[in-house]
Amino acid sequence: MSKIKILQGDITKVDVDVIVNAANTSLLGGGGVDGAIHRAGGSQILDECRDIRARQGGCDPGEAVITNAGNLPAIKVIHTVGPVWTGDNEGGQRAVLASCYLESLKLAIANNLKTIAFPNISTGVYRFPKDLAAQTAFKTVQDFLLKNEVIDEVIFVCFDLENFNLYQKLLDS
Ligand code: ADP
Repeated sequence: MSKIKILQGDITKVDVDVIVNAANTSLLGGGGVDGAIHRAGGSQILDECRDIRARQGGCDPGEAVITNAGNLPAIKVIHTVGPVWTGDNEGGQRAVLASCYLESLKLAIANNLKTIAFPNISTGVYRFPKDLAAQTAFKTVQDFLLKNEVIDEVIFVCFDLENFNLYQKLLDS
């Protein structure tokens, strides 16, 4: 049976070891899923983000950091920064997006976290084409799971129906 699952809904409600946040380079919170996670999780998450900022000065696109999950059902939150889509792939934005998924998976394993939920990184304010983002995310995770046995479950949490349908197609193919 596939370790990849999809669901439509709010990632803050998902009961997994770790949820991934589509953060921004400041790590200080923002709109979209970032705002939802900080709202639902409470100030403990932001406190730890501030500590990380003080230590390493934020987070670059394609990189990931980990904090507590405050009041969320998850044990931890991984904050990764997606690429901003610029209308072409000249800045290698697909590779940066793939790196978000890869670095998050590696960080989960390093912290002994075996079930992980991802939002559709970069497909909101960062304007990445949803079909391209879905293909990139799905293939990166699928390839990773072929080589790494430690992760038990990856859930793609789609907020909107368009993304859900794209992931459903990829899962069925
Ligand atoms: P980015 O800046 O990386 O584009 P956004 O938060 O604007 O980040 O959007 C990323 C994706 O997260 C979008 O598909 C958006 O619909 C989705 N999203 C927004 N709120 C939530 C939520 N509570 N749970 C899951 N996904 C969400």
